[in-house]
Amino acid sequence: MTVLKKILVAAALSAAIFPSLAEEVNVYSARKEALIKPILDEFTKKTNIKVNLVTGKADALISRLASEGDLSPADVLITTDVGRLHRAKSQNLLQSVDSKALTSSIPANLRDPENQWFGLTLRARPIMYVADRVDPKTLSTVEALASDEWAGRVCIRSSSNIYNQSLVAAMIAQKGQDSVQNWANDFVKSFARPPKGGDRDQIKAAVAGICDVAVANTYYLAGMLSDTDSKNHDIASQVNVLWPNQDGRGAHVNISGAALTKFAPNKTSAEKLLAFMVTKEAQEWYAQTNHEYPVVEGVKWSPILEGFGRFKAEQVELQKVGQLNKQAVQLMDRAGWK
Ligand code: FE
Repeated sequence: MTVLKKILVAAALSAAIFPSLAEEVNVYSARKEALIKPILDEFTKKTNIKVNLVTGKADALISRLASEGDLSPADVLITTDVGRLHRAKSQNLLQSVDSKALTSSIPANLRDPENQWFGLTLRARPIMYVADRVDPKTLSTVEALASDEWAGRVCIRSSSNIYNQSLVAAMIAQKGQDSVQNWANDFVKSFARPPKGGDRDQIKAAVAGICDVAVANTYYLAGMLSDTDSKNHDIASQVNVLWPNQDGRGAHVNISGAALTKFAPNKTSAEKLLAFMVTKEAQEWYAQTNHEYPVVEGVKWSPILEGFGRFKAEQVELQKVGQLNKQAVQLMDRAGWK
């Protein structure tokens, strides 16, 4: 065999053994591996683009991006809550994506106007009430939870939680600072206890009789309902969802989303991954697995979410919610929302 022939044979052999995976994309994800990896594997199967996944806490991943700077291997950041996506953008860690696939399938209010972040799923934050203690007819809006009727009867987590910060920021965007300040000043009187714990803890406290209603994201209730631990399932079964503000601005919603990082070394592959995430197939799996709502019109909801009923969602531009985060934190602080 000539030397050239040997090289050609070796090349042919290695191509047969190692199918070309030259393209790759590096993902920093604040979602737990089980809630994202299967769909990334599906993407690799379809495109032959390898996905390297790093998972961690959202704020830690954003700090890591910032400290890595232009040496960061990350291409895509996946995280929850627009407050965090906006934080990454304002720290100059993201770049715009020019993608028809993304802009045509994601509603405009659920993505950055400069295309630096995109909502992939929607999460809702309604009122939850204990069915055998509360007549749903007595509930209407989040605003009304501040009235005397609800004094000492509401469980909600702390103002340091970004979901509440975004809830209040969205109210400021739609109602103005003064009106929301007045509301928050009264709303804290409705708290059954100084805020503590996560969303699940508010639901559990309501069922335990500490309060009558809780404010929590729907995926927590859905997660408890589908929990193999029957204790959690039994607790969640005693709670119903009340969609607030249905005659007005709609129920508060937020997103989980994704963005292309500023120094993405594998930009083309990253853009392919982002576009894949809004295909019907990816949307259905991703939303159902996380008990969240798809952002793409016409994609099936999980049976549990269907059980909570269809609802009118807030239409506020989430970009504004991100921008108003600081204002919301200060407002809650002044109201004494711990
Ligand atoms: Fe959460």
